[in-house]
Amino acid sequence: MMQSIEDLVTVKHSKRAKRVALRLDPTSHCINLVVPQRMSVKRAMDFARNHEDWVIKTLEGLSPPIPFTHGTTIPVFGDEVFLEIEINKTIKRTRLTQHDDRLHVLTYMDDPTNRITTHLKKIAHAGLADIASDKAEQIGKHIADVTIRDTKSRWGSCSHDGKITFSWRLMFAPYNAIDYVVAHEVAHLIHMDHSREFWDACESLCSDYKNGKRWMKENGNKLMRYGAKAH
Ligand SMILES: [Zn+2]
Repeated sequence: MMQSIEDLVTVKHSKRAKRVALRLDPTSHCINLVVPQRMSVKRAMDFARNHEDWVIKTLEGLSPPIPFTHGTTIPVFGDEVFLEIEINKTIKRTRLTQHDDRLHVLTYMDDPTNRITTHLKKIAHAGLADIASDKAEQIGKHIADVTIRDTKSRWGSCSHDGKITFSWRLMFAPYNAIDYVVAHEVAHLIHMDHSREFWDACESLCSDYKNGKRWMKENGNKLMRYGAKAH
């Protein structure tokens, strides 16, 4: 599933504009695609697509980053987890221990962001693979493999040979949004398109998929804020 450029920009037709342009509207936190009178939306969208990196970066910049520092609370599969970082220069190895709603990090490092990220990616992988295999079982399908990546604009994908990939950052989304993205990719095990039948299958795997879908569309880019390095 792509977070497509059509979802990221708002089309604004303009009688006065001479050229196509992308403009940040900081008050409504969106990016307007200004389309001059004589240009088709399709051509304007091509222009936006060519500047997708700028669009994504600009949208990300609208909400402040959430670095993995002591005292930060991060959502993990819908639960708030408190990061407790204890620096001890005399130890040789970083140790991460999870106690219910606390992740304790005992480390000699000044910035253990990478270690915390590795740990969270493992949790993301296990959690997403669990949800996906449960859903696949419901429709009598088998997933060949679940992998996680750090992707910018794709939250999930499903290949013809039954391999599913997720962005590890999905773990920071509310549960209904996670459930929707997983249902979406698992439904692709039956229908590789986005037909009516596909959406019926998606709904059978996630009854609340419309709310999850809407959340991802409106807030998906916010998932990129987590784990920015402390400066
Ligand atoms: Zn899809």
